[in-house]
Amino acid sequence: MRYEMMLPHQIRTAIAENIPVVLPLGVLEYHGEHMAVGMDTLAVVRMLELIEREMPLVILPTFTYGAASYAVEKPEGNGSIQVGGNVLAPFAEELFYSLLRVGFRNIHAIIHHQTENFTAGMPTDLAFKTAGRQAIFRFLEKEHGEGWWGNEASANYYSDHAGGANPFNWVQVHPLMSSDTMADYPFDHAGEGETSLMLALCPDAVEMSRVGENRSWYTASARQASPDTGRRGAEMILERLRKLLKT
Ligand SMILES: [Zn+2]
Repeated sequence: MRYEMMLPHQIRTAIAENIPVVLPLGVLEYHGEHMAVGMDTLAVVRMLELIEREMPLVILPTFTYGAASYAVEKPEGNGSIQVGGNVLAPFAEELFYSLLRVGFRNIHAIIHHQTENFTAGMPTDLAFKTAGRQAIFRFLEKEHGEGWWGNEASANYYSDHAGGANPFNWVQVHPLMSSDTMADYPFDHAGEGETSLMLALCPDAVEMSRVGENRSWYTASARQASPDTGRRGAEMILERLRKLLKT
C-alpha cells in the first residue's frame, strides 16, 4: 500500500495489525557515466515493490534528498545533491514524531547509500537514527509525562523488553544489504554490484553502451555487470527484508 493512497479506515487497520511502515531513504549521487544518479534510492524502492507482493506493507513517499556528499565527484555537471545531516535530523524527527502520532509502532527506514560501515554510521543514516530516538523520547514524554521511565507503570520495563515490547524499536533504520550480503555480493559504488542490481531491478537507469566513457577506478568493474548477478543480489536482499519487516 502507498501511504498517499490510503484512506483513514485503511490506516486504522494498518495500525491495528501493526503492519510495517517503510520509508525508502535515499540520495541523488553521481554513479558513473553509465548509470542514473538515483541508483541508491531506486534500489530501495524497487526492492520494496518486490517484497510488497508477498507481505502487507505500507510504503511511505520516498525521501531522496539525503547527504550524498561530494566524495565521489564534484557536483558541477555531474549531478550529486548534498543536503547535510545537520539539516536532515530535525526534518526526520518531525516526520517520525508525526508517524508515531498517527499511531504507527512498526516504522522502518531503509537506505543503500554509504552503508558499508553502518554500525558506526554515515551522515544520512545517523541523522535518521538520531531523529528516530529523539522522536520516541518526545512521544513517550508527551503520552506519559516526564518521569515515565521511573514511575511504577514501568516497573516491568526490562522484562517487557525481553517479550519484544521495547518502544525504541518503534523506529528503526536499516541498510538495504546486511553485512552477510555484502560479503557474498560485489559491494561497490557504480561498479559490478550496483550496476548489476540496476540491470535486474531498473534497467532504464543503465546505459551499458556508456560504460567505456568511465574514467574512475570505482566504475572499472561495471563492465562485468549482468542482470543475473543483479537478480542474485536482489534475492539475498529479499531474504533479508522478509526477516526485518514483520507484523
Ligand atoms: Zn550507490
